[in-house]
Amino acid sequence: MYCVNCHEKFYPLRRFLDFFQTKKSYLCFRCRSRFPLRPELHRISLLEDDLLIVSLFEKPYRMNTDGYLSELSKIMAFFFKKSDEFLIFFSERWTLTDLWLEIFQWLWETERKRILIITFYLRK
Ligand SMILES: [Zn+2]
Repeated sequence: MYCVNCHEKFYPLRRFLDFFQTKKSYLCFRCRSRFPLRPELHRISLLEDDLLIVSLFEKPYRMNTDGYLSELSKIMAFFFKKSDEFLIFFSERWTLTDLWLEIFQWLWETERKRILIITFYLRK
């Protein structure tokens, strides 16, 4: 396979139990260790409820985030099961500003659902 970030050829690690299974990996080991995922949940208080933000990186990396789409899809699938409770937004990078907080406050008052933002990097 070729890494989607650095385009180097690599072989996904196989073990005895998954030797005959199809195993897809889009990032090489070097890119995974250079750009590690560190999922973090941020709670920001609105007037009556909390705004939930899930960020996946602790720093803004300059990389092709397509390599983490399989991990992102698992996180999205987890929250889409609860989509009755949440309004879910996704952005590759999110800058939290006062204007966004006002928009989310208004959105919460009109929809009466919890607001969840999933992003690779949150800038406060
Ligand atoms: Zn790579």
